[in-house]
Amino acid sequence: MDLLNLVKEAGVIGAGGAGFPTHAKLTSQAEYILLNGAECEPLLRVDQQLMELFPDQIIRGLEAAGRQVEARKAIMGIKGKHKKVIGLMRERISALGLTDYMEVMELRDIYPAGDEQVLVHELTQRIVPEAAIPLKVGCVVINSETALNICRAIAGKPVTETYITVAGDIPQRMTLKVPVGVSIQEVIGQCGVDNPDDYAVIDGGPMMGSVLNQVNGYVTKKSKGYVLLKKDHFLIRKKSVSLERARVIGKTACEQCRMCTDLCPRYLLGHNMQPHKVMRALSYNLEDVKDQQIAQLCCECNACELFSCPANLHPRSVNSLYKRKLAEQGIRYQPLEMDFQARPARDYRLIPSKRLVMKLGLSAFDQPAPMTQVEFRPEYIRIALQQHIGAPAIPVVEIGEKVKAGQLIGKIPDNSLGAPVHSSFEGTVAEIKDHSILIKVGSYV
Ligand code: SF4
Ligand code: SF4
Repeated sequence: MDLLNLVKEAGVIGAGGAGFPTHAKLTSQAEYILLNGAECEPLLRVDQQLMELFPDQIIRGLEAAGRQVEARKAIMGIKGKHKKVIGLMRERISALGLTDYMEVMELRDIYPAGDEQVLVHELTQRIVPEAAIPLKVGCVVINSETALNICRAIAGKPVTETYITVAGDIPQRMTLKVPVGVSIQEVIGQCGVDNPDDYAVIDGGPMMGSVLNQVNGYVTKKSKGYVLLKKDHFLIRKKSVSLERARVIGKTACEQCRMCTDLCPRYLLGHNMQPHKVMRALSYNLEDVKDQQIAQLCCECNACELFSCPANLHPRSVNSLYKRKLAEQGIRYQPLEMDFQARPARDYRLIPSKRLVMKLGLSAFDQPAPMTQVEFRPEYIRIALQQHIGAPAIPVVEIGEKVKAGQLIGKIPDNSLGAPVHSSFEGTVAEIKDHSILIKVGSYV
């Protein structure tokens, strides 16, 4: 079977972002294949440890992806502060005879170094045009865990597990290999907190993750981290403000200082994203959304809301509000047709990760989260049929049916973009509803 079909059948999706099906990404042709090893979300420690634990597999996965898209060069982007990982990767690239094809480049320790468009610029000096994807400038980007999953797919192994950092104001910070479908409760139960009611849980990193209203979900292929903080922590209070409240506060308190714009990573790449203008529009006429199409250029990195704004307002949330309204009215931003240049002041306006961590009130928790061996023995797992961009998978099993670990349980609908899903344990299908398959775990032989 060829690589595209192996990757497709294994259900590989982008492990670092929205979950775009990888086989679809690899149908393109590009000059560069880039490995996103930036891991710029504070406190998360997955990618750096995977690169240390599985260097050859990640290199092989990246190489295979690069050859597939006919890239002339593969570049790994890893933050310069991870000296050990960089040394190891360079050594293994050389040992595997790939120095002509692959190199490691050191990234600055800035936020958001892992944003695809920032990464492309940092590694190639190219700028992805507004509202476009890296392919537009000859680049395909995959993240470290995705490269690992590509390598495993070549060996016939479907994606049934993911790596997750559990971090925050907790006794034991750790990174775990977790079977897809295990309950989040079970994962965060490993971190030694004995008063869980005092905590809120952020699903993902502190910057882009959202606070879970109820911790009743299940791990998906995209799950990367859970950050536990006391409910009265600044970040939890800030992230818990409703959109309506953010709107009311912004309308009355924005002083139009434009710090949100001046530090916006997309604005600094020359795009027209100017959140202070969206905030200004808010002060006048919320219904007049047509002129706020720039909101669609926002990558939701949250830098404006959690770092830049001196008045502690919510420009990212307001962007989201306008994005929603624009979508409801079917209005799409018309990108500027031009050669984008980074703003001249960009180098002086990058956000240092350490400063960001301090501003978020997370310095005390910015600690290692070592890879820890935990054997999960859940009673049930719930596998979501849509863990990716595209159409939900269609169940190919029935209630009462026995399944094996790694067995296909949901397939891609015909002629659709999507990814299949597999069971991560042996067991019996107990329920199929709410776009998910519940499996009672247990041997049936
Ligand atoms: S940084 Fe804050 S106060 Fe300044 S323009 Fe942006 S939203 Fe308004
Ligand atoms: S969240 Fe704010 S800083 Fe980030 S891209 Fe959007 S407007 Fe810019």
